[in-house]
Amino acid sequence: MIATDSKVNVVDHPVVQHLLTKLRDYQTAPHKFRRYSISLSEHLVYEAARAVGCREVGVETPVGPAKGTSMTDYVILAPVLRAGLVMSEAAQRLLPAAKVFHVGLKRDEETLEAKSYYAKLPDTLPGDSRVFVLDPMLATGGSAVAAIELFHKLGVKKIHLVSFVAAPEGIKKVHSHFADVQITCASVDQQLNEHGYIVPGLGDAGDRIFGT
Ligand code: URA
Repeated sequence: MIATDSKVNVVDHPVVQHLLTKLRDYQTAPHKFRRYSISLSEHLVYEAARAVGCREVGVETPVGPAKGTSMTDYVILAPVLRAGLVMSEAAQRLLPAAKVFHVGLKRDEETLEAKSYYAKLPDTLPGDSRVFVLDPMLATGGSAVAAIELFHKLGVKKIHLVSFVAAPEGIKKVHSHFADVQITCASVDQQLNEHGYIVPGLGDAGDRIFGT
């Protein structure tokens, strides 16, 4: 794993980079894109989950007592609709006890800021909550900031953002609002183009996942 700074982890594992390359390829068909997306998500969430709090436990093997580890954090997965859905499918395999709170965002045409239109969150969350916001493309950072804000307002301190590809502009925006958010991704790309797409990126992740 390369840490470009202490808050951005670029996972440079060959398997991750191979999967990212498949996703970047414009010739990758939607059914394959979905499959590669699930695999890539699993690897990225696995890396991000290194931070999960643990305690030592005892366990009996058939041969005798052993020391073991039990995860203690109250883990929350927050897929940002719609492209994040494919990531939560993978993340739930790794963290089956995690709670899943879907977040739907749309752009407010007056302020141009992302606003939540769907977020069924409780009024309070446990103090040991750790949230993984799942959004494949960290582009302008508007959606990421809006999603993180929902959990920050509820007092959650441990918030991660997991993305396939991040733009420098998005990273800057997230960290200008929430300096402690840990970002895990497979690549930090060059920049955004005039349409807000990441260059070179992989195109519209939602369209490619859902074949629209
Ligand atoms: N959303 C995408 O799906 N792709 C981009 O490049 C930017 C935002």
